[in-house]
Order: sequence, then structure tokens, then C-alpha cells
Amino acid sequence: PSNGEPRRVTVLGSTGSIGTNTLDLIDRNRDRYQVEALTANSNVAALAEQARAFDARLAVVADPARYADLKDALAGTDIEAAAGPEALKEAAARPADWVMAAIVGAAGLEPTLEAVNRGATVALANKECLVCAGTLFMRAVAEKGATLLPVDSEHNAIFQVFDFSQKDKIDRIILTASGGPFRTWTREQMAAVTPEQAVAHPNWSMGAKISVDSATMMNKGLEFIEAHHIFGMPIDRIDILVHPQSVIHSMVSYVDGSVLAQLGTPDMRTPIAFTLGWPERMAAPTPRLDLGAIGTLQFDSPDDTRFPALRLVREALRIGGAAPTILNAANEVAVAAFLARRIGFLDIAALVERSLERLPNAPLTSLEDVLRVDRDARTVCTDLIQAAAA
Ligand code: NAD
Ligand code: MG
Repeated sequence: PSNGEPRRVTVLGSTGSIGTNTLDLIDRNRDRYQVEALTANSNVAALAEQARAFDARLAVVADPARYADLKDALAGTDIEAAAGPEALKEAAARPADWVMAAIVGAAGLEPTLEAVNRGATVALANKECLVCAGTLFMRAVAEKGATLLPVDSEHNAIFQVFDFSQKDKIDRIILTASGGPFRTWTREQMAAVTPEQAVAHPNWSMGAKISVDSATMMNKGLEFIEAHHIFGMPIDRIDILVHPQSVIHSMVSYVDGSVLAQLGTPDMRTPIAFTLGWPERMAAPTPRLDLGAIGTLQFDSPDDTRFPALRLVREALRIGGAAPTILNAANEVAVAAFLARRIGFLDIAALVERSLERLPNAPLTSLEDVLRVDRDARTVCTDLIQAAAA
């Protein structure tokens, strides 16, 4: 609000990488923001510490078994404690002006939709929402008059240079990709990759799941679907360009030949600040971009053969219906199994492909459809992993 009142903000997934970066920015602007709700999966200690530090009104832990611990950790404060999936949705439905959606995976879909359904301004980091339920999600945004601000650095970059009033003059959008830690590796080398190697991203510091997604390049695939929904661009007008320095965060190409880009150092506090301050710019304490010191920017075409996730995503999007939902759920299960050392690195994309083959496709007309397909795909992928281990 412009009346000088602090803006009320909620952070879903506050203990994660995006969540803590968001709270870092809020911490530097205490007079401008009042924290309504904070949520976490199971890390009660971190959640309670954040809730106390920011004097939140509500703290929610997704795991119902951790309710008593959260209550204890908040003893002596007037911060409300709650637990479980319904409480998570309740947190998102609370009247905050701005909601950061930073839960990882399809687990964030229902809470994020709660915020969308009350017409909130939603800063969206949780890209899996758009991968598993893109059409439904964007319809809800339009119908409820919600404001969707992309946090993902590529989509945030595009958002900054995308002229929505002249959309018909936009020729293509170009998503840049770092290529991840195995950009130059052969398939043979990738076969022996460990979780430690996969989560060590060369440019960005992020949560474990998205780091593995970056290593398989599934992340760029998920972002391809995300871009298709946010910007309403057809599949054949979205390009992926490998750019190892992660300085150009993405580009928009216009019919007159102009290509507009957003640049910056790889620090998520820049796109988060863009959404937190929106529609105004706010300061972010990120390292300033020094192109003279960097000297050279490189570009390369993506390689679908070494990174089959890129091919799978295009196929899933072309098929439509339940395919992207299946792809997302199978990928979540496979990445968790890889992190638990139950499968190899190359098995991740292979399992996604086999899950897509196993499950029937069908149009998704409701949230219930999405949740059912998501569950079925998790079961199929889990069965495939168990069958291979037996
Ligand atoms: P993270 O693993 O660091 O944090 C995830 C947060 O979600 C934590 O607070 C965790 O407690 C909570 N959470 C996890 N599982 C949950 C569940 N089942 N129910 C409720 N809460 C749950 O992840 P992150 O790196 O912060 O990423 C969050 C989202 O933002 C992801 O969708 C990711 O793809 C996206 N994103 C992240 C980055 C980044 O730099 N980290 C960049 C772009 C997009
Ligand atoms: Mg990204």
C-alpha cells in the first residue's frame, strides 16, 4: 500500500534457499514489511527461529508429527503454530499483500493456488506448479485477478523485457542455461556421477532438488514449460541457449530484429528483489556486474543426446494433457532416489521416460485430475525403481 503502512508478506518454504534469500531482503527493509506467515516442511528449529526474528503471526510446519515441537519452540511468544497440509493452505489463504511461493515440487501447488484464488500478488519460484498444472494455474490467475511475478531468474529476466502490450511483435523468447556441472561431460562420465558432484553447481547456490535438475538439464526443461505458460508462447518460439557464465539471464527477440536481455551476477536476490519491490525497484546487496572483469561471454547449442531431459520435455509439452504432470512427478521421485543413492544419475531421465510410456494420457480438467495423475505417476516411478533393485 502507498499509505506508508508496511506491506504484509507471507513466505511459503521460508527455510529453503529462496525462502532465506527472501527473508534476507525483508530483514534489510524491516520498516516496509510485516511478516504474516512462514512455512517449512519439517525443519522446526529454523522455522521457529525465523518466526521469532521476524515476529510472524503464524508459523506452519507441513509435517503434522512436528506440531508439538513447533509449539514448544514458539513458547512464550504470541506466534500462532499450526501443522499439516490444511494448515499450509490456510497460511497461503491469509490476507497478505504479497506471497512468495518457494516450496519445492508439486507439494507447493495447493498452497500456491490458495494465494492465487484470493487474487494475491504471488512471487512464483515454485516452477513445478506450472509444470504439473500450467493451464489450470494460469486460468486461476486470470479468473481471480491475481498478479503473477516470476522469480525464476530466466522468467524474471524475460518479464523485465517482455512488452506485454505488443505481444504480437515478439518473435521468440530465448532461455539461457548454464549447462550445469556436467556441461562438457560425456554420457560415460555422467554414468558414475555422485549426488555430491551433482549438487555442486558452478554458478548458483540452490536447494538439492533444483541442483540435480540443473545437472540433468531437466531444470531447463521445466523452465521451458514454465515459460510457455507464463508468457503464452508456443513451443516452437521458445529457444534454449547454453551460456556457461550465467550473466545474461534470458532474452526476448522482437520482429524488428531487436533482442532485449536482462543481465546481472548470478544471485537470486536480484530477481527476488524485483518481485518484492514491484512495481518499484528496490536495492539488493548483490555483487555488481563487472563485464570488464568477466571479459568473455560464451554461447553454445543444447545437446539433447547427452541431456535427454530436454527432448522429453518438448515431447511431453507437445503431447499435452497429463504428460507434463507425469514428467514432473516421475522426476521428483527419481531425483529423490538419486539423492538417496538408490539409482544412478542417468537413470533419472530414463525413469521419467519409462513413466511417461507406462501411464495413459488424458486431458486434465480439474485440480483433482492433476493430483490423481501426480499420485499415479509417483506410484509407477517408485515401482519401476523397486523392480530394478529387486
Ligand atoms: P529448498 O529445498 O532449498 O527449499 C524448499 C522449501 O520448501 C523449504 O522451506 C522446505 O522446508 C519446503 N518444503 C519442501 N518440501 C515440502 C513439502 N512437501 N511440503 C511443504 N513444504 C516443503 O529449495 P529452493 O532451492 O529454495 O527451491 C524452491 C523452489 O524455487 C523450487 O521449485 C525451485 O525449483 C525454485 N527455484 C529455486 C532457485 C534457487 O536458486 N534456489 C532458483 C529458481 C527457482
Ligand atoms: Mg532458473
